[in-house]
Amino acid sequence: MAKCEVCGNEYDKAFKLIAAGTHYTFDSFECAIQAMAPICEHCKCRVIGHGVRLGVVFSAAPIARGLQRPPMSKIARA
Ligand SMILES: [Zn+2]
Repeated sequence: MAKCEVCGNEYDKAFKLIAAGTHYTFDSFECAIQAMAPICEHCKCRVIGHGVRLGVVFSAAPIARGLQRPPMSKIARA
C-alpha cells in the first residue's frame, strides 16, 4: 500500500511519478494532475496536454493568441 500525496488515500494500485528527479506517489491520475499540471494563465484550467508556454502557460494556442478576450471567470452569465 502506498499513500497518495494529494488526498492521503492509501491504495494498493497507487503509482509513482518521477519529474525532474523528484519522486511522487499518487492514487489516481486526477490527483497527479492536481499536483503536477500547470494552470492556464487565461482560463485557469489545468493544462494536461502540451499547452503553450510564453513565459506563462496557456491551455491552447488560440487562447495564447487571443489574450484580448476576458478570462472565462470575467464573462457575465446571461
Ligand atoms: Zn489521491
